Amino acid sequence: MNAGRLVIISGPSGAGKTTVIRALLRDCPLPLSLSVSATTRPPRPGENNGVDYYFLKKTEFEERRNSGAFLECFEVFGRGYWYGTLKSEIERICKLGRWPLLEIDVQGMQAVVRVFPEAITVFVRPQSLEELELRLRNRGTESEDTIQRRLEVARHEWQSAEQYQYDIINNSIDQAARDICQALQHFSTQQKNTSSQNIP
Ligand code: 5GP
Repeated sequence: MNAGRLVIISGPSGAGKTTVIRALLRDCPLPLSLSVSATTRPPRPGENNGVDYYFLKKTEFEERRNSGAFLECFEVFGRGYWYGTLKSEIERICKLGRWPLLEIDVQGMQAVVRVFPEAITVFVRPQSLEELELRLRNRGTESEDTIQRRLEVARHEWQSAEQYQYDIINNSIDQAARDICQALQHFSTQQKNTSSQNIP
């Protein structure tokens, strides 16, 4: 499998990561395809099975885990649900000659990089934790409890930014998507000249 072009994007919830990824998939000329993860979390309104996630019962998830179907899977910090990248999903995308794009958390990134050290890693975040708090509050949809929990998760994840090759500040969705695209293009040109990448 050519995993040299496997892309991992992480970042705290509320950082606009999903919207940035949508803009990236829409505007970046690279052959990126989103890897659909499996989860035990129930679907939110508007989410579809096989599109946003493969929504599995806990027992189904465990069966797949025991049969070695996951490249990585974890109970995501602060969520209480399991999430995992299916090997079959990565194989499907690679067979099409495309670049799998994984939106996973920090522990997922660490596990994937252990298997595929050539993976390209990107962390997306707002300028500061204060800015993130402001965004969460401005949404006006979250309870104080949820805001506090999300900030706690964000503080935890924030310290992991330095483990990523690219640290992208999301001040504007389109600019952040352009910055990521440019970083990936830079990487793909570099890769023509080097046989391996060193991940810090
Ligand atoms: P949400 O429930 O809001 O869709 O996602 C919650 C978190 O789960 C996000 O931080 C996302 O990066 C992470 N996540 C989604 N899919 C996976 C996966 O397959 N593996 C891991 N390790 N984390 C995931």
